[in-house]
Amino acid sequence: MEKKNIDWGNLGFNYMVTDYRYVSNFKDGKWDNGQLTKDDKVVLSEDAGVLHYCQACFEGLKAYTTENGDIVCFRPDMNAKRMSDSAKRLVMPPFPEERFIEAVKEVVKANAAWVPPFGSGASLYVRPVMFGSSPVIGVAPAEEYQFRIFVTPVGPYFKGGAKPIFVRISDFDRAAPRGTGDIKAGLNYAMSLYNIVDAHEKGYAENIYVDPATRTKIEETGGANIIFIDKEGNLVVPKSGSILPSITRRSIVAVAKDILGMNVIEREVFVSELGDFVECGLCGTAAVISPIGKIDNHGEIIEYGSMDKMSPTLQKIYDTLTGIQAGKIEGPEGWVVKIC
Ligand SMILES: *Cc1c(COP(=O)(O)O)cnc(C)c1O
Repeated sequence: MEKKNIDWGNLGFNYMVTDYRYVSNFKDGKWDNGQLTKDDKVVLSEDAGVLHYCQACFEGLKAYTTENGDIVCFRPDMNAKRMSDSAKRLVMPPFPEERFIEAVKEVVKANAAWVPPFGSGASLYVRPVMFGSSPVIGVAPAEEYQFRIFVTPVGPYFKGGAKPIFVRISDFDRAAPRGTGDIKAGLNYAMSLYNIVDAHEKGYAENIYVDPATRTKIEETGGANIIFIDKEGNLVVPKSGSILPSITRRSIVAVAKDILGMNVIEREVFVSELGDFVECGLCGTAAVISPIGKIDNHGEIIEYGSMDKMSPTLQKIYDTLTGIQAGKIEGPEGWVVKIC
């Protein structure tokens, strides 16, 4: 298989139309067999459920090339499960988890020429998405749905190493208690756009959301979970029913506990204790860990060491987790899944 003629080292995080995508439709109460297609367009009724009542959810994972030339992905079973949970919460028919994993493999394999080579730092971003496709005028779930997976090559999140970022505590809220914060729904992002554009204009990389009920507890940012290291060297992870269960965060917790022998504390984290931590970072598929150098809490600046490089404990966790992903460090059974 010949690779596409792409400048792999200079890719950003942009959508590129690749050769194949996987599509399955839900109609008359069941999912069809699904297939690969070259058609990157979706034609919908002007009254499709997704367009009016935002009945849609998505996932994000990466496929990449390891040193021995294998194309692999990381814990796709977790994405399958989470998408199924998201679908159920939005009254959409969950796509069977086994089929989800097979479809990811099928579409990555069909687009193998688009998977960046080992050593480029780039990867193939895999985006499963599901939406209500049939007409809905009164507020109700659609009767028909489409499940689709497309892929696009993306560059390394940080070119030339992770630089700590400056973030702020947000005045807007992300997810209501017992709302939809714990599922990967497009609607959770629509409401965050105004705030992220405003944050960027004012020089912040991200918004940290607090719990809307009391505005005293840390939740997460618009698209990543937050982790802390306290003075005793414990990994502290905010706990709340409206935080999206990040697969990266859950992998970090396992790595810290089982491989690095760290103590992990999952509990409510208060805004008032931000200054007590010694390290802080964001985690998600895109960057794995993105260190936070400074937080602006309404004029009070909380600093976590250097703005030049990742703090030492987060660096150790980052090196271990990315080492497992790269196949250089042995990780738990089933984390790295070979595609071809
Ligand atoms: C996708 C997402 C994350 C990160 O999850 P990963 O599975 O680690 O990629 C965190 N927070 C939100 C709100 C997300 O949508």
